[in-house]
Amino acid sequence: MDEVDILVVGGGVAGLTAAAVLASAGHQTLCIDAAPAEAGARDSRTTAFLRPAVELLTDAGVWDRLSGATAPLDTMRLIDAGGEKNEAREIADFHAAEISEPPFGWNVANRDMRQALIAQCEALPAATLAFGVSLESLTPRRACQIARLSDGRAIRARLIVGADGRNSAVRDIAGIGAKRTSYGQKALVFTVAHDEPHQGVSTEIHRTGGPFTLVPLPDADGPRSSIVWMETAGEAMRLAALSDAEFEQALNERSLDVLGPLRAISPRAAWPIISLIAHRLTAPRIALVAEAAHVVPPIGAQGLNMSLADIAALRDGIGDDPGAADSLAAYQRRWPELAARVAGIDTLNRAAMAGAQPIRDLRRAGLGLIARARPVRQTAMRMGLGVRDTRP
Ligand SMILES: Cc1cc2nc3c(=O)[nH]c(=O)nc-3n(C[C@H](O)[C@H](O)[C@H](O)COP(=O)(O)OP(=O)(O)OC[C@H]3O[C@@H](n4cnc5c(N)ncnc54)[C@H](O)[C@@H]3O)c2cc1C
Repeated sequence: MDEVDILVVGGGVAGLTAAAVLASAGHQTLCIDAAPAEAGARDSRTTAFLRPAVELLTDAGVWDRLSGATAPLDTMRLIDAGGEKNEAREIADFHAAEISEPPFGWNVANRDMRQALIAQCEALPAATLAFGVSLESLTPRRACQIARLSDGRAIRARLIVGADGRNSAVRDIAGIGAKRTSYGQKALVFTVAHDEPHQGVSTEIHRTGGPFTLVPLPDADGPRSSIVWMETAGEAMRLAALSDAEFEQALNERSLDVLGPLRAISPRAAWPIISLIAHRLTAPRIALVAEAAHVVPPIGAQGLNMSLADIAALRDGIGDDPGAADSLAAYQRRWPELAARVAGIDTLNRAAMAGAQPIRDLRRAGLGLIARARPVRQTAMRMGLGVRDTRP
């Protein structure tokens, strides 16, 4: 039977990061993914990596592999357009320079990040990747878990990291329940080209159904941005089915012309929006990370950044025996903070979806308060960036 220190189940961006980080820390790590390696090329999403995530990826030797593929984010702009007319009625700018060195973070295409992660894992002697291989069962022992894989192998691992996404098999096998909330909402994701430069400004426009967010991408034959357009599921599917010309018209109405005319230059992908929090993060010799443990709507670039914080906590808390009970108990102590963050983003998402005019007006008033009161604004920024001490 093969033996490893750590078996990471799931090779999405989070699982591959866990493999690179834990192998860099010296643990023999095998990462398996049910899908073939090429499957990630279909992910058209981008991720805004905030500073703590970038530090983790730099330490693991991944960030330096991304040269030319990152777009800095210096300003986050929130626009409320929830009035009768489709126009901006409140604008709040959050400049990174107000609270720290700019930028806030960097936006990277998920497929570029996956490529960098796979290259780094292949270069690390302690990491092994196996695509097209899924977890079938786990048998607990005192000092390990025995994992049976779909390729017929049995692996003895001192720690299983469940990074197998929102429908996690590891979570189910460990008997850990989860609270799942569906919003009847979907996010359309695609890339646009535009003539006006984005100048490092990420813009979130609120009207109804959910935010419409433009996130800067590195220039390629001119400026480009990634769009995440959240709507009720029915409206999102209607938009997804429009002809190119009709879609471009709808897109330009919704964007309020903030970057001039937008041209869609990629297919549209629709992602269902849910939130989820697992009842626990651990079971004997098992730790859940990323979407296996928590899922949030894509607001304020939180999801994967929370996931990378899980991985940093795991790396920092484990010793020579990576699945030892005391290290897992320390990891479990992250749960209340994660649960609070999931609940907070749930509230923000419900406010962003609001169709009723009084709630839309309340949302505008809240944004106005944040825009004009410097201490409130700075506290909100620190909370958004995952800073623990949020005092202005
Ligand atoms: C529209 C949208 C925009 C987003 N934007 C941002 C952003 O700007 N910033 C941010 O921080 N986050 C963002 N997020 C969140 C982020 O994209 C996700 O958190 C992240 O992609 C999820 O990664 P994951 O690795 O946890 O899960 P997944 O990508 O779902 O990976 C799970 C992997 O596990 C594998 N798997 C499943 N079961 C098994 C099994 N039994 N055995 C082996 N393998 C298995 C699957 O094949 C899959 O590859 C966004 C999300 C969405 C939907």
